[in-house]
Amino acid sequence: MKACYPGTFDPVTVGHLDIIERASRMFDELDVLIMRNPRKKCIFTEEERLDMLERSVKELPRHDNIRVLIGTGLTVDFAQKIGARIMVRGIRAVSDYEYELQTATANLMLNESIETLFFIARPQYSFLSSSAVKEIAYNDGDISPLVPACILDEVVQRMHETALQH
Ligand code: ADP
Repeated sequence: MKACYPGTFDPVTVGHLDIIERASRMFDELDVLIMRNPRKKCIFTEEERLDMLERSVKELPRHDNIRVLIGTGLTVDFAQKIGARIMVRGIRAVSDYEYELQTATANLMLNESIETLFFIARPQYSFLSSSAVKEIAYNDGDISPLVPACILDEVVQRMHETALQH
């Protein structure tokens, strides 16, 4: 069975990568979807996020069944198009649950044949988000335990550039 894991990944964190690894062990195929959302202000372009995710995924011990794609339109429509019956999402806290429940319910209404499946965050990553990574890097904190090693330099550099612009 094929699953997809949609998100923004601006940038990918070790928390995302943990969900990718766990989900890829459960399903025959996993497509990680960088969903296009022009209303969200991202610091990395879709192509940069794709490149960072692809390099991070390659470092997983087993990654042959994982692909990274840029998705457009409604997530359920995109999932249907690529033949994914399951959409994986992560839950870190009750605050995530409220939003995720609303989105998953709307998605079920839009397409009854696609299920949302939740993975709970590992306790050590339950505080971790892309925004926390950006906030810490912006203020010169150490983000090395929070992002895959292969993308560390570019995240630090981009946040320094952002800090200089302000
Ligand atoms: P979105 O804008 O779609 O929420 P994100 O890239 O922020 O995109 O997150 C994608 C998914 O990954 C969400 O379901 C989010 O709850 C989950 N997620 C984010 N960080 C973590 C983490 N540290 N552990 C587990 N799940 C996470």
